[in-house]
Amino acid sequence: MDKYKLLKQYFGYDSFREGQEFLIDNILEGRDVLGIMPTGAGKSICYQIPALMMKGITLVISPLISLMKDQVEGLNQAGIHAAYFNSSLTPGQYRKALCYAREGRYPIIYVAPERLLTEEFLAFALESNIVMVAVDEAHCVSQWGQDFRPSYLKIVEFIDKLPIRPVIAAFTATATKEVKEDIIDLLLLRTPALITTGFDRKNLYFGVMAPKDRYGAVKNYLECHPGDSGIIYCLTRKVVEEVCEKLLKEGFAATRYHAGLTDEERKKNQEDFIYDRSPVMVATNAFGMGIDKSNVRFVFHYGMPKNLESYYQEAGRGGRDGQPAECILLYNGQDVITNQFFIENNQDNKELDPLTRETVMERDRERLRIMTFYCSTNECLRDYILRYFGEYGENYCGNCSNCLSQFETVDVTKMAKALIGCVKECCQRYGMNVIIETVHGADTAKIRGYRMNQNSFYGSLKEVPVYKLRQIMNALLMKSYLALTKDEYAVLKLTEKSEAVLSGEIEITMKMAKEQEHPAKVKTGRKGRKEKMPSGMDFSKKEKSLFERLRTLRMEIARKEKVPPYLVFSDKTLTHMCILKPGTKEEMLRVPGVGEYKFEKYGKQFLEMMRSKGEGR
Ligand code: ADP
Ligand code: ZN
Repeated sequence: MDKYKLLKQYFGYDSFREGQEFLIDNILEGRDVLGIMPTGAGKSICYQIPALMMKGITLVISPLISLMKDQVEGLNQAGIHAAYFNSSLTPGQYRKALCYAREGRYPIIYVAPERLLTEEFLAFALESNIVMVAVDEAHCVSQWGQDFRPSYLKIVEFIDKLPIRPVIAAFTATATKEVKEDIIDLLLLRTPALITTGFDRKNLYFGVMAPKDRYGAVKNYLECHPGDSGIIYCLTRKVVEEVCEKLLKEGFAATRYHAGLTDEERKKNQEDFIYDRSPVMVATNAFGMGIDKSNVRFVFHYGMPKNLESYYQEAGRGGRDGQPAECILLYNGQDVITNQFFIENNQDNKELDPLTRETVMERDRERLRIMTFYCSTNECLRDYILRYFGEYGENYCGNCSNCLSQFETVDVTKMAKALIGCVKECCQRYGMNVIIETVHGADTAKIRGYRMNQNSFYGSLKEVPVYKLRQIMNALLMKSYLALTKDEYAVLKLTEKSEAVLSGEIEITMKMAKEQEHPAKVKTGRKGRKEKMPSGMDFSKKEKSLFERLRTLRMEIARKEKVPPYLVFSDKTLTHMCILKPGTKEEMLRVPGVGEYKFEKYGKQFLEMMRSKGEGR
């Protein structure tokens, strides 16, 4: 079967996402690859599809037990034989699984790095045909990253022992230069095909709020989004306890997670969350590594985290299915002090020599400053984050609390006329600064020297602040109402579109930040969210109730089969069922996320339900 058929048949998708096809093709050509893609971009498919096409076994090395289990269950759900070998298996289970593996039953095997060089596993590997080693979370090999795992260094040693070197495919979401180089060097990748896809997660809404009553804000949100699954991150265990207890008292299906609980309780609570028995998780930042739950619809930060890296990683656990999710930070001035305390008392730093320790602390303080600015900026929040990670956004995303509340559409026709008129009257001889200073009425030697104080537009925009004039000027340049020459002294010139502005033929509007003393707003950013479905589309009442019924059916099946609901079908798939209203098998197979196998297993039941209620077309 070719890659497109596999994608449709097993995963139910019609097209590849950015980067996937490139990586798959290179792997199939026998070339090593390194894929740097943000969480939720779809890294797994990049090695799973070639694994199904190659003759032999693919080993997937992953650091996290919970993640392995989830991935393997997901594959089994899709009708693909896969297994995992890690410490969660009893010796009996392990031997049995190894036996099946020897028989060639599993094209894909997940294995913990610690296990690679054990006698039993090695014996199996040496007599099997290992065609690919996929290294997930490959940044764990680097000491530069935050998640260094010494056991990752064993991967190369293991590969060295194999009779034929397999293709090595490495994946990570961490993109700094040092980490990237380390992965290539330490995993001995041979001129890998490399791809880095964008860090922007368009389906995530970003919001900052500074409500007086944080708990009230969360409660209000939960009431408006019944049934939605989400995470509430708190700075300390104590706050986790408080918030969770209050929520439970008020009847919300919440659970908690922090390092102070027993292993047993942590495990249970995590499962309750994953299986949607307790869709709301209140946790410290100890929670989340390796959680692969795709239908997380909101991530609250009940307090400001210590840096933007952590924030983006934690917020990024929302919306992994590509459907809209909301990431809202509830900020309080006190959070800075709490975080400063963490920095000054970081136990991990105690063992460092004084100089290194001071350097590390200074770096952490700087990161905290950047995080704090995020909470008070008036700019587009997404743009702020992307710029921090070295990417350029568009300075207005339309899907963050600042863009939605701090920006307004302003009619700038009058200002545009003055700026363009001023350029025209001085015979297009000057640059941006002179023009802006002129219309602003600057009384300087330069302006007088150029006689711009005699220009009829001199001082005509005295009341508009200079930075705004600059923004308007930039907008005019971007939209080609004016142009700049490319010489050393860039001079403003008219364009063919200039006259239409002067004659009043067109009006010019632009998005501008509102002026406000207090940037962070108390009200939630999004309007009308109550009626919005995970698709972000406005649903009719009827569709909303259909969605609820589909969700209930999904829950029933999940309970019976003892799998997390999102492994039955994702929120996205259910949403598309509401939109497409399939009435036949063919139509059902057109729903993203419904492959042949899943149709037989679950799709039929959904189809029947839709038919019996007369929902299908
Ligand atoms: P990552 O490992 O990069 O964080 P995953 O591999 O877990 O991401 O994929 C995230 C989600 O995206 C999953 O629900 C997966 O099924 C979905 N997905 C992956 N590839 C595609 C695709 N080509 N079309 C639609 N959805 C996809
Ligand atoms: Zn924005």
